[in-house]
This record gives sequence, structure tokens and C-alpha cells, in this order.
Amino acid sequence: MKPVVQFGTMQMLVESLLDGFVTAKDVLASGNTGIGTGAGVDGELIMLDGVAYQVDVHGHVNKVAGDFPIAFGDVHQADFKPLKHFDNITLDDMQKEILKEVGTENLFFAVKMTGEFKTVETRAAAKSEKPYPGLGEIAKTQVIFDKDDVKGTMVVYFTPLVFQGVGVPGFHQHFLSDNLDFGGHVLGATLKSVDVSIQILSGVTINLPTNNEDYKKADLTDLSSLNGVIADAES
Ligand SMILES: [Zn+2]
Repeated sequence: MKPVVQFGTMQMLVESLLDGFVTAKDVLASGNTGIGTGAGVDGELIMLDGVAYQVDVHGHVNKVAGDFPIAFGDVHQADFKPLKHFDNITLDDMQKEILKEVGTENLFFAVKMTGEFKTVETRAAAKSEKPYPGLGEIAKTQVIFDKDDVKGTMVVYFTPLVFQGVGVPGFHQHFLSDNLDFGGHVLGATLKSVDVSIQILSGVTINLPTNNEDYKKADLTDLSSLNGVIADAES
């Protein structure tokens, strides 16, 4: 069983440590499937079959070059097993069904959903430049996109609550349409006819920016605002 390989932490995003400290090529070397964001929260990333796509603040889907800098990412080597087919269900209800099937909220797992979606609401942030604002400020400038009757894929990671601050607790999902004309960080969705597959992960491997001076010098000892900002920004 394989772990999810994570680059950076949610705390880094909250604390404005948004340098791209790893390239898309290096992230993809740890897995062919994933989600993430670019340097300065440059759009929303989704990795499928070893290719990284960026949904930018204009809603455009761009294939990402190997040297594209990444500030945060979760990837793993896909080995999904079919779980269930769902018709006409909201994302919220489906998450509850998935948790019932998995039988625990205490493991990391990945979910892949492919098929027809009745509605999908996503968001993407604009790239910030140094000195970077916090994630709370960036979240205020995010752009929201809606699409009805769209075929595509959702890549989802579930993180146990105890890892809040390291990762995004609970479900975190990014979407990409088959036509490569829509996607982003998913805020909500209703599924029309979707095949759901699942992969239990052994745990998490975290890669920190070992060569980044801003990260090394940052005071990351005050955790008081972290949980609130994550709850606001990632919900
Ligand atoms: Zn996201």
C-alpha cells in the first residue's frame, strides 16, 4: 500500500509561504494522480495519468510545463478499485456514502469520480506576488465558476482530522472536464451518473522546502489562527 505524497503544508499557505519550492516534474515523479496549487496560489492543479493541468483565475485549463513551480501538492500512484456507481446525488451526500463504505475517518484515502455531473461549482485563485498575502486574503479574491451537464473527473483526497494544519481535513477535491474547458477546486456539485473508485493510502509522506530561506526563518509556532483560516478558505 502506498502513501499520499504531500509537498508543503496548509500552514505554509496560511502563513504566506507561497514560493514554488518544487517543480511539476518532481511532483509527478512521486505519483501520476493528484491535486495542488502553483507558486503564489497560481490557480488550481489536477494531475491525471501523469499529466498536470492548471485551472487559472480566468477558468482556462492549461497543461502545465515540467518546470512549473508548485507551492502545495498531494500526489500518489493510482491503483483505484471500483467502489460504486452513483446516480443523482449531491457531493455532500455522496461523501457520507463513501465514508459509510470505507468504514473509517481515520485513514488517508483517494477517490476518483468519472462520469456525468449535473452541476459543478469550482473556484480558482489569482497568482499573488511577493510579499505574499495570507490564504485568507487570497480566498477573498478567488473567482467562482459554475458548469451544468459536464463530463469529467474529480480527484479527491481524504485527510483525517488530526492532520489539520498539515493538510486539509476531510474531503478535498479538484475537478477537470473531459473537454479541458472547466475545472478547479470544487466547492459543490451534484452528480448525475458517476463511477466512483477508491484507494486506501498507507499514510502521508511530507516533503518540506528544505532549501527555502523564508520557510526556514518563518515563526510557525503560533497555531491559533491556523484552524479558523483553513476552515474558512477550504470549505
Ligand atoms: Zn483545492
